[in-house]
Amino acid sequence: MQKTTLIWFRRNLRLSDNAVLQTAVARGLPLAAVYAAERPSESANPRRAAFHHQAAAELSAALAVKGIPLFAVQGDPVETLPEWARRLNAQSVLADEAYTPSETLQDNRIWRILDAEGIAFERINDRAVFAKADIMSEYGRPYAEFAPYKQAWLQAFRQHFSGERPSETAKIPFQTAFAGLPPFPDAPQAVLAQRGGEQAAWRQWRQFLPELDVYPLLKDFPAKKATSQLGAYLSAGCISPRELAQEAAARGADVWLENLIRRDFYYQLAFHHAEMPSEPENPADAVFFQRWTKGETGFPLIDAAMRCLRKSGWLPPVLRQVTAQFWCMTLRQNWQHGAAWFAAQQTDHDEALNIGNWQAAAGLLSPHALRVLHPTVAAQQFDPDGTFIRRHVPELAHLPKDFIHTPWLAGADIDSHGYPPPLAEAV
Ligand SMILES: Cc1cc2nc3c(=O)[nH]c(=O)nc-3n(C[C@H](O)[C@H](O)[C@H](O)COP(=O)(O)OP(=O)(O)OC[C@H]3O[C@@H](n4cnc5c(N)ncnc54)[C@H](O)[C@@H]3O)c2cc1C
Repeated sequence: MQKTTLIWFRRNLRLSDNAVLQTAVARGLPLAAVYAAERPSESANPRRAAFHHQAAAELSAALAVKGIPLFAVQGDPVETLPEWARRLNAQSVLADEAYTPSETLQDNRIWRILDAEGIAFERINDRAVFAKADIMSEYGRPYAEFAPYKQAWLQAFRQHFSGERPSETAKIPFQTAFAGLPPFPDAPQAVLAQRGGEQAAWRQWRQFLPELDVYPLLKDFPAKKATSQLGAYLSAGCISPRELAQEAAARGADVWLENLIRRDFYYQLAFHHAEMPSEPENPADAVFFQRWTKGETGFPLIDAAMRCLRKSGWLPPVLRQVTAQFWCMTLRQNWQHGAAWFAAQQTDHDEALNIGNWQAAAGLLSPHALRVLHPTVAAQQFDPDGTFIRRHVPELAHLPKDFIHTPWLAGADIDSHGYPPPLAEAV
């Protein structure tokens, strides 16, 4: 069998602006691909697994048109990837670059096995706009603070992306050595609010575009659903952050663009700085954990948010912040327990972004810049008329605006259908 270039698709499940695919094509050898996304520790999130699988299935069909087989591989990639590399006679294996310590560790183990067999293992940035070592301070050190990172990022962006769209992989001719193309297995069952895949990602972006101008005004009002809801698509790599950044910059959408910069920031932070202990030091208070995860804390906006997350797998950005701070600051619990719950619920779960944001909520990153949100004040600010609360906490749907955020003040005059009193004194 002729030598091949093997692509490992994991978090870049797209054809458009796929740097790994472009590099593989440029090697000139026949191409084959495997999809082996989930490390064993991540399979505990069925929504995320199903979303990624749907995206991989769509990619498999798109690759099939070009004659490239995509094999769905189960199990631990440390064992399965070298096995497939041997089976497909790979000269090199190419994958998108990973950022967290656990992923890097896994990649290093794979690299050692492949290297011993003379197979190259190359990783190329497809997850972030800038790769982990692209944005460094003038002393060659990685940034630990967002504000200077953002300045350096914007400067680099102006230099490297001066209006040119990335080249389109779809136009590059492919080669294949495989006669038969493998069927792609069905996605695992899960109820998803969005469908995974590149086409749906672009539809979501186009649907959001008319809202870009009002994003800065409405993003913190969860009842308005005014954010892009692209998290899961970016997380699975169904859409390229480079392409989105270019389009957002061209439209002058600076506030929205800042999110993509923050995303890059947390990736490089995960690689260069963050300590990511796998086990929390102390167990969580069992009652607090149960009432927080079930949305029964007695704080209406917190409960509405936690019920929304549990039901849909998604939460507007501001509510992730509010609920995370509530866990860390009001209930004074270890951030890692909260992060683990989010990791199991969010369809867009991304280890680097989840952990970075949780550490920020716990005041571990830039504590001087931390704006602590009191749960009731936050509720009055972000859901002033209680629309979001009424949507997710039916026990309170009949309450007037004056009591919707503080039902405990209504006294016996109003029946709140068993809704609990506050679990803790808010700080
Ligand atoms: C405690 C906590 C945990 C989080 N965990 C995750 C996670 O596991 N996966 C994830 O994708 N995002 C996570 N975020 C970031 C953010 O809340 C989500 O990206 C956002 O809610 C997704 O909704 P959207 O696409 O409508 O956001 P938009 O406001 O439309 O933002 C567009 C994109 O920018 C990126 N982005 C936005 N805010 C952030 C941020 N604070 N940090 C990093 N990237 C950001 C995301 O890719 C997002 O899709 C977390 C935030 C908090 C506070």
